[in-house]
Amino acid sequence: MSIVIRNGTIVNATGAYPADVLVEGERIAALAAPDSGLAEQWAAGAERVIDAAGKYVVPGGIDGHTHMEMPFGGTFSADNFETGTIAAAWGGTTTIVDFAVQGKGTSVLSALDKWHSKADGNCAIDYGFHMIISDVNDTSLKEMEACIDAGVNTFKMFMAYPGVFYATDGEILRAMQKARDTGSMIMMHAENGIAIDQLVLQALANGQTDPVQHGLTRPPELEGEATSRAIALAKVTGAPLYIVHLSAAHALDAVTQARDTGQNVFAETCPQYLFLSLEDLARPDFEGAKYVASPPLRPREHQAELWRGLRTNDLSLVSTDHCPFCFKDQKELGRGDFSKIPNGMPGVEHRMDLLYQGVVRGEITLPRWVEISSTTPARMFGLYPRKGVIAPGADADITVYDPTARQTISASTHHMNVDYSAYEGMELTGKVSTVLSRGRVVVDDNAFHGAAGHGRFLKRDLSQYLI
Ligand SMILES: [Zn+2]
Repeated sequence: MSIVIRNGTIVNATGAYPADVLVEGERIAALAAPDSGLAEQWAAGAERVIDAAGKYVVPGGIDGHTHMEMPFGGTFSADNFETGTIAAAWGGTTTIVDFAVQGKGTSVLSALDKWHSKADGNCAIDYGFHMIISDVNDTSLKEMEACIDAGVNTFKMFMAYPGVFYATDGEILRAMQKARDTGSMIMMHAENGIAIDQLVLQALANGQTDPVQHGLTRPPELEGEATSRAIALAKVTGAPLYIVHLSAAHALDAVTQARDTGQNVFAETCPQYLFLSLEDLARPDFEGAKYVASPPLRPREHQAELWRGLRTNDLSLVSTDHCPFCFKDQKELGRGDFSKIPNGMPGVEHRMDLLYQGVVRGEITLPRWVEISSTTPARMFGLYPRKGVIAPGADADITVYDPTARQTISASTHHMNVDYSAYEGMELTGKVSTVLSRGRVVVDDNAFHGAAGHGRFLKRDLSQYLI
């Protein structure tokens, strides 16, 4: 099976240029100058020709932070691996890295088995795993090695959620030492959960129960403090550090400083922190519950700082932290007590589109859009150059993007299994027109042509940003 994508503009992290793409089987076989004899020859012999005139041909997006079917507070996130990966494909994302969860008192490897049984055979696009370590002991530290051999070499820990995922500084230190010794990486949820829990109790005791309290009891200073502490622990241990879902200017300052001194500290942010704010959490009639995620949405002035970070590479990439809970029956668990609202927002479908608005508004360049949504995630998580680039030999994970099409985001048209959109009514410039996953056309002409089970597990190499 050969497919030729003609007349498009290829956009890689290194720049944009016109070229035709020959796809053979699951991989990109070659690129040719448009109108060259070779390109004509390919088109004549191809089983399928996709016309990309006026469109960008970009490497499929890689969302390095999703939570499909994730247990939280007595419920599960609403997308499973099938619905979530189909929604991702609709939005031009062709790889996700999801989080397996080691619960307290359970084994790391059994958690990995459990997540494989949830995902294997159900994904429409390729997928990998990170591992959440919530119980640090001699056994789990040893199991990290087996995990790395199995292609799962990034370990997330929490400075928040005491009693659930929370790790003490001593536990974090031990896990970081193991990461240093094995070339793996600790990913950190950096918020001071011990202080936050007191603020939450005080707010509830004062009868302050609305969703906005979720934001007010998790001030940005406590994200900045935890980020600085994680950076100090990483420095002491000599381990690399990856800060997940960075939301606050205070935390970005700490990351910027660490990077300026040469420390291996990386951070991601998420579209919700670039486009939404504390004002959304303050929406009346419990509407704010739709925007409850941790860290919380911040006052609007943080957004400019995050865009700055994306331009200067102090923020390496953008993931979604996709963790959808329906408004009805799930978010509603927290009516009358904001601390019981499941934490998480939907987003896997719209990351590429939302980030493209950064190009439209002049916040980032076109190649930087590709870099933060695909190329850097591929390198960060050991998938490059199989993923993250349009080049001969790479997997044919390709998104054909129409930069002039218009669309309006709505829960009535999105494909995520959740009953609201955090971006309802938002008008966007740019839209996915065709998506290939390992050489198979999975989205085209406003229809889904893929299948659950097409996606394969990706055994990842170590991060390619570490020497
Ligand atoms: Zn998360």
